[in-house]
Amino acid sequence: MSKPSSEPVALFWYRRDLRLNDNAGLYHALRSGFPVLPVFIFDQTILDALDDKHDRRLEFIHNAVLEMQREFREIGTSLLVRYGKPLDVYRDLLKEFDIQAVYTNYDYEVYAKDRDKAVTDLLSENGAEFHAYKDQTIFDRDEILTGSGSPYTVFTPYSRNWHHKLTDFYLKSYPTKKYYANFLKTAALPIPTLEELGFKPVNEPFPGKTVRAFLLDHYKETRDFPALKGTSELSIHLRFGTISIRELARKAKEHNFTFLNELVWRDFYFQVLDHFPHVEKHSFRREYDRIPWRNHEDEFQRWCEGRTGYPIVDAGMRQLNEIGWMHNRVRMITASFLCKHLLIDWRWGEAYFAKKLRDYDLSANNGGWQWAAGSGTDAAPYFRVFNPTLQAQKFDPKGEYIRRWVPEFNSLDYVEPMVEHTMARNRAIESYKKGLAAA
Ligand code: FAD
Repeated sequence: MSKPSSEPVALFWYRRDLRLNDNAGLYHALRSGFPVLPVFIFDQTILDALDDKHDRRLEFIHNAVLEMQREFREIGTSLLVRYGKPLDVYRDLLKEFDIQAVYTNYDYEVYAKDRDKAVTDLLSENGAEFHAYKDQTIFDRDEILTGSGSPYTVFTPYSRNWHHKLTDFYLKSYPTKKYYANFLKTAALPIPTLEELGFKPVNEPFPGKTVRAFLLDHYKETRDFPALKGTSELSIHLRFGTISIRELARKAKEHNFTFLNELVWRDFYFQVLDHFPHVEKHSFRREYDRIPWRNHEDEFQRWCEGRTGYPIVDAGMRQLNEIGWMHNRVRMITASFLCKHLLIDWRWGEAYFAKKLRDYDLSANNGGWQWAAGSGTDAAPYFRVFNPTLQAQKFDPKGEYIRRWVPEFNSLDYVEPMVEHTMARNRAIESYKKGLAAA
């Protein structure tokens, strides 16, 4: 049977890199010698797993896909958008097009690696190649290793080596624009609506993607204070690749070391997930899987709803529930409270954040949770327990952040603390001690 389109083509498969400019895999596809058809797949496996049909992530992706389609139309090509399980979609695409190669960018998650392996095998059976490139990180895989050639498990030496290795070469943009003539010329192809995908819009604006000059000048001083607009809120753009990490890191390198170093944390957790995939389900330090968690369902529920009686914890959880984002300092405080004060398995909290965060990223979320639980790389000693009251006094001294999210704070309507700090602290230390002794 002849294919509807007999011209040999290369596909560029978009995943977490939803932009045309400075896109590594797209650049290589456009230089492959074949006309390039850009493709995006709404992955049914992932969509089916989302219980809440008002999903900010999906809405963001959908908007980004529409935006890319506008750009593609301007240059006479079109994004091909499909819905389904990627392997099934590729089976169809192989029947429809004479695919010579598929280009894409690396993804470090276990699900993604398995998916890519299956697609690579299918393509290879059909005589097509699969090429993946580093795009979402500055350094990945084995680019930053210890002197003895193993992956780093502690941030500070990793970061030192990262900065040492950084040259302009790693920050250079890929000039995709120069090669736009190499896209396959096609008529406009349809894109399913959000409703056709089974979802409804939340209809709240997303943060913009320009880095404010104020931020770059004052980040170090303001970043820990959740009442201020002291962080970039670029996380959703970094998550889905609507901005280029190279472009951002270049700006950070010029203007603000502290901000650049946050991007190093991001690379660090990607490489942890890549090298130690067991972290997805287990403690990085296996002995921490033996902590005797209390796991009280009703206490977990109070934490989720922001009704713990600790105002900074409640403010954070309500911010998360209402806007799908929480300030980093408060992520650390709420996560610590769940693991230490309530002795609830960090994986419960991780899963709740995964459901709610608009910037949810397995590597950073897992890294943050394991850091808070003390079970991960770079962990502080387990007997260091955040005091949520002191944290609030230090980082929200006027209670502005708290009052924004917990309006009943300081009134009779506000709930009593669900657990007393000193008792909870001692209980956590004892339980950790017991768990680690059993290991
Ligand atoms: P900024 O302070 O402006 O930082 C700029 C960028 O640097 C961020 O957008 C992010 O990409 C990166 N970054 C900053 N801090 C970290 C960090 N500690 N680890 C990795 N990358 C970092 N970040 C996510 O992107 N997705 C998550 O799912 C996520 N879950 C977290 C869970 C916990 C328990 C904790 C403690 C942290 C988590 N973080 C996560 C890291 C951090 O809280 C967010 O990246 C940050 O709050 C996003 O806001 P921002 O863009 O304004 O950050």
